[in-house]
Amino acid sequence: MTQRMVVIGGDAAGMSAASQARQLRGPDELSIVAFERGRFTSYSACGIPYWISGLVDDPQELIVRDPETFRRDHHIDVRIRHEVTRIDLAAREVVATSFGDGGREVREPFDTLVYATGAAPAQPPWAGNAASGVFGVQTLDDGAALRDWLDQEPVPRRAVVVGGGYIGVEMAEALIRRGLAVTLVERSPQPMSTVDPDMGALVRSALVGLGIDVRTGVSVTGLHERDGRVCEVLTDAGAVPADVVVLGLGVRPNTGLAEQAGLPIGVTGGVRTDLQMRVVGVPDVWAAGDCVETFHRVSGQPVHIPLGTHANKQGRVAGINIGGSYATFPGVIGTAITKVCDLEVARTGLLEREAAKAGYAYVSATVESNNRAGYFPGAAPMTIKLIAEQHTGQLLGGQIVGTSEAAKRIDVLSVAVWNRMSVAEMTALDLGYAPPYSPVWDPVLVAARRANNAVAETP
Ligand SMILES: Cc1cc2nc3c(=O)[nH]c(=O)nc-3n(C[C@H](O)[C@H](O)[C@H](O)COP(=O)(O)OP(=O)(O)OC[C@H]3O[C@@H](n4cnc5c(N)ncnc54)[C@H](O)[C@@H]3O)c2cc1C
Repeated sequence: MTQRMVVIGGDAAGMSAASQARQLRGPDELSIVAFERGRFTSYSACGIPYWISGLVDDPQELIVRDPETFRRDHHIDVRIRHEVTRIDLAAREVVATSFGDGGREVREPFDTLVYATGAAPAQPPWAGNAASGVFGVQTLDDGAALRDWLDQEPVPRRAVVVGGGYIGVEMAEALIRRGLAVTLVERSPQPMSTVDPDMGALVRSALVGLGIDVRTGVSVTGLHERDGRVCEVLTDAGAVPADVVVLGLGVRPNTGLAEQAGLPIGVTGGVRTDLQMRVVGVPDVWAAGDCVETFHRVSGQPVHIPLGTHANKQGRVAGINIGGSYATFPGVIGTAITKVCDLEVARTGLLEREAAKAGYAYVSATVESNNRAGYFPGAAPMTIKLIAEQHTGQLLGGQIVGTSEAAKRIDVLSVAVWNRMSVAEMTALDLGYAPPYSPVWDPVLVAARRANNAVAETP
């Protein structure tokens, strides 16, 4: 008999699961229905800032596979503009509302369910009934609304980005590239609280150098509108004029439906799964992506780290298992990378505060070194910070701020963290060298040596 698989959420995690399951089991064995409340499937939210800036022209370029391709080539029945409103575990069916049909209710039975609803953006009370001109950038539909606004007359001139995390700084770049005057408002003392404050300070001075008005330690208290359009962002340090406001205040796992259905929720607010991405204690229900809790391989703690790289892998793992094969998701180490104009920022493993919270005694070492041989055109400095466990010297984490191919060096650090290398071992790594690519002592090696000295000096 044909088994019925239903997927809630038609992006990275949900469609990876659907595609993998389809590769392993044909339409005669497994029927797949995927509900997506938006208009797009398998799109790159990560590309939204570059579409807004104009670097990417056409939103179609951000769509890996559209609903029609899924239907035609993969026999996956994708139903866009359908919002699942209830999961009935006892009846083994989901209930969805079809936006296209004047709100018609649809019931879909399942043998296997994949919960992949992503994350929901933080919505402070003042953003609840926002005037026009205020945008989130969580989905491609959000991006489309912002692009339309920026293209319309009168042309907005002053932008305020609320939130200085990686989405906030990427959006600041996008708006600068469009010629707007940009103010970035961030509650913390430094932007990019995903790196240590000393590294965040480097990001801040680079943002200021780009002409961005960075206001840190400032909380937004409300919005002021005129004729239905936003005109000011009100903060505890005064009002900031704005023609357009972009919210990048972080996200939380989107678990409303899961909670209603009684799926287990972890301490970070994400759905709890086992290593195969099966929802803990609920037969035939799987979850993946930004809506789940995962675990950190270095701290050993549960974490919620909403990134596309994890969503794709977790969805794939779920799909392989649903398809009858075997795979596990091995956890994360917090690797992330971004850029704002020429400035590149990356991290992996634990920050200082995270290492302390996990109970590690650690040392840290920061070096400045060049991306290329000093005499080679384009040589530019970068800062690398390493955090290592005292006594053992195990690399716990690394951060990089710099320009010109600085940040991708994080992958070397990431492999070292993943494999529990010590900074002493790292000093001898056989890394590539030629003048256009690095100095003879690559910055990673210089940083490892400095960290190793710091470990040796600990009593
Ligand atoms: C601006 C931006 C930039 C980013 N940049 C990066 C980056 O550079 N690198 C990186 O690794 N990650 C990045 N991310 C994060 C990455 O996009 C997400 O981690 C990834 O999209 C998560 O995939 P997902 O499938 O779990 O969730 P989502 O992509 O959020 O997909 C969930 C889908 O479920 C749908 N849905 C939710 N509830 C329902 C319902 N009840 N019924 C039907 N459909 C529903 C939603 O409409 C959505 O399409 C970025 C995100 C944003 C917003």
